[in-house]
Amino acid sequence: DLDDVTLDYVDEPAPVVPEPQPDLTGPYAKEIKSHLTSTFGLATFRKNQFEAINAAMAGRDVFVLMPTGGGKSLCYQLPAVCTGGKTKGVTIVVSPLLALMNDQVNGLKSKSINAVLWTSNTSEAEAQQIRSSLYSSNKPTLLYVTPERLKVSSTTKNILSHLYRINELARFVVDEAHCISTWGQDFREAYQNLHILREEFPNVPIMALTATADRKTVDDILERLRLSSPAVFEQSFNRTNLNYTVVPKRSVDEMVTFIKTKHPNQTGVIYRTGRDKCEKLAHQLRQKGLKAAHFHARMDNEDKEKVQQEWKNGQCHIIVATIAFGMGIDKADVRFVIHFDLPKNMDGYYQETGRAGRDGQPANCVLYYAYRDLQPILKMIRDTKDPHTNPASIERQEAAVRAVVRYCENNSVCRRTQILQHFGEKFDKKDCKNQCNNCADQGLLETADYTQQAKIVIRLVQSFERSQENVTIDQCRSIFKGANTAAVRDKGHDQLPAFGAGKDIPKEVLELLFNKLLFLDALVEKSVQTTTKWHVQYLRMGKKAQDYLSGSKKVELSHRPKGVKAGGKPKATKASKKASAVPPPAPEPPQRPRALYADDDDPIDDI
Ligand code: ADP
Ligand code: MG
Ligand code: ZN
Repeated sequence: DLDDVTLDYVDEPAPVVPEPQPDLTGPYAKEIKSHLTSTFGLATFRKNQFEAINAAMAGRDVFVLMPTGGGKSLCYQLPAVCTGGKTKGVTIVVSPLLALMNDQVNGLKSKSINAVLWTSNTSEAEAQQIRSSLYSSNKPTLLYVTPERLKVSSTTKNILSHLYRINELARFVVDEAHCISTWGQDFREAYQNLHILREEFPNVPIMALTATADRKTVDDILERLRLSSPAVFEQSFNRTNLNYTVVPKRSVDEMVTFIKTKHPNQTGVIYRTGRDKCEKLAHQLRQKGLKAAHFHARMDNEDKEKVQQEWKNGQCHIIVATIAFGMGIDKADVRFVIHFDLPKNMDGYYQETGRAGRDGQPANCVLYYAYRDLQPILKMIRDTKDPHTNPASIERQEAAVRAVVRYCENNSVCRRTQILQHFGEKFDKKDCKNQCNNCADQGLLETADYTQQAKIVIRLVQSFERSQENVTIDQCRSIFKGANTAAVRDKGHDQLPAFGAGKDIPKEVLELLFNKLLFLDALVEKSVQTTTKWHVQYLRMGKKAQDYLSGSKKVELSHRPKGVKAGGKPKATKASKKASAVPPPAPEPPQRPRALYADDDDPIDDI
């Protein structure tokens, strides 16, 4: 029963372990500790915060790699208000998003800290005031600027040079530092220019912070910012309070049932890849009684602001958004993050799921997976509008999305192990504590050899290829299943030796088998343009087809035997009993021909 998304962890959250406190020693310890409690109103340091602050005060370059919600801001905000160590003067914070900077500046002001935001939206009168304050003796403690300001504005450069000459530049902070790297999805042109900070102000320490831990990106950041023997603080990217689940994507109703049973009236985000899809899904959710709104990059600023505000204050529970939503949004009690389309890469997936459970309380990350979602994304990558896109970058993006497919298809290895491996971190699945659906399902999955059936399917495709007949995956599956339909009979497909060879295989396993053959490169879908707009995917032999035909490679499928619930335990627990009261999943929506995806074809929004 693949339909049922029964998740037991909601009743049995993993214990939240309090952070062990570091030795609060050293010349700055007293001042640091006192600001933590009196200025910031916090009781204890989170992992690496004290150490990073200490290194900053000692005047070193610092690199902080901390998962989203880990508390990176404190690492530069606290030294900024100190007077000991290397803290004299203004701390300049470079950050990529206005909303994010706005939140931070307001938060600091509410703590009576002199923080100022200077962007292209700043009025001329305000800018004048900021400029004169920077030349006065009453300078702001923190000055937040966009990278664009540093790049284009000669006024800003002049002021920085002035501060540098009078030794009043405390530190440069580059937040969301991964935006400097062309490896990442958040690449920002103006971040490229930040090497000038070290070149033009060589004595000012730099602190770079990010939550993107991919090794290549980290090296890129260190090099591009010219950090010199930085104090590096990295930590495990495991988010213990998040539960990771991948379930087959069937219908919106299933997802609605999940939300209504597991997260009634709770806050969540649903990610989709196109703005039309966001609008449509938010509308559907509202019709089903959920408080949902959409968010994407093409909305005007006023609407964006309104939606974010309503979500923050709880008027709206669910935001259906493209990846344009989220960076820097600090809402602590997000209880679920759903991906209703395939994420573009593991990095993004980790970042987006990371917005759940920032308060440390249990939260669910559910990815609704359908292999058919891969093609539209590949198409978007290839059809990218920019004629200068480097082919290597297209290849890289394709490889990145295929890594997501591998993650989804892999239903045996602990999901945490898979996610963290992407960041070069080894993770022992015993530390998962069954907080992913692969660990929770361990021992419940049945693995069986489907090599013989796979051979029949591959030979079927081979015969079509030889007779130059174009068939889709749905047609092939119908033939293999032995479907007695006019479409099959009219083409004489019921006369083929493969007709009905898979009639005893359950429907969901049949789907797994075809997905697996595509995934293994035993079969491929080739896109054929029939008119200017419509593409049809036809099946062909894949690069690895011969390996399976010759029997040198096997095809194994793991699936839940009938009657075992996803994420469930064999015995009836409180949660699964509750779940049995859930209305049965709605009948499957009519399938539109999967080969035709032209109306899915809106571009992925960018930040
Ligand atoms: P990041 O930038 O790493 O994603 P933030 O700096 O935005 O994280 O902090 C995330 C949340 O954690 C904020 O609500 C912040 O107030 C809180 N926080 C940070 N440090 C601490 C701490 N030492 N104790 C308690 N809460 C903290
Ligand atoms: Mg941050
Ligand atoms: Zn696990």
